[in-house]
Amino acid sequence: MRPLRGSYCAVCGQVVHLPGYADGKAAEGEEPRCQLCQRVDPPFERAVAYGSHEGGLRDLIHLLKFEQVRPAAKVLGQVLASTIAGMEKAMPVGTIEVVPVPLHRSRQGQRGFNQAEMIARRALRQLSRPKRFDLCTGALVRRRDTGSQLGLTSHQRRENLRGAFAVSDATRILKRDVLLIDDVYTTGTTASECARVLLRAGAARVWVATVARTLKISDVVAWPESELEDRSGEASAAVGIAAHG
Ligand SMILES: [Zn+2]
Repeated sequence: MRPLRGSYCAVCGQVVHLPGYADGKAAEGEEPRCQLCQRVDPPFERAVAYGSHEGGLRDLIHLLKFEQVRPAAKVLGQVLASTIAGMEKAMPVGTIEVVPVPLHRSRQGQRGFNQAEMIARRALRQLSRPKRFDLCTGALVRRRDTGSQLGLTSHQRRENLRGAFAVSDATRILKRDVLLIDDVYTTGTTASECARVLLRAGAARVWVATVARTLKISDVVAWPESELEDRSGEASAAVGIAAHG
């Protein structure tokens, strides 16, 4: 379980491994951007992750989510805290509203908890700076149980999530900077959809931090055109990697 090292897109965190970025470094004075983020800005400011969704990190997330081993949240919260601390300089001064990606109430009932919220709570305890990060649960809700996104293309993911999230209490995020928390960033569809809903309800900016991120260099090198169309479309929610669970 190691933090990410190397060259990653400064916006979405994808591996930057492209022509013009020889040996994985951006030109001097320039932040690396993946091909997708060079062409279209995602709705969030930045998405950061602690590590790649594999090995020990993936095991820990699965222990928490699927086997309800709650102590796993402590370690995951710690690594998330370090990731948030790394992004903090880029964020504006003042209080940041921390919004865990919500589960549908039926899913949360089954699991007994929302892993994103549990990890966020642990992370904030580590950061322990009163008035800087404010946990904001219940403001963003999931209206539908969208099921597993595994095996869906980015277009299908976007369709699956359309209308799934809503802001139930806009006063809590109005003109505020929001830090969205989730356990895993896969294609970015969920993060983008939540960011869009939050911005529409009046949030100033949305930032994203996850424990893990799916990284696939092969997918970065050859972006399917459909991904780019998805993102530039009006209801776009496609960010990141093509059709990977
Ligand atoms: Zn990017």
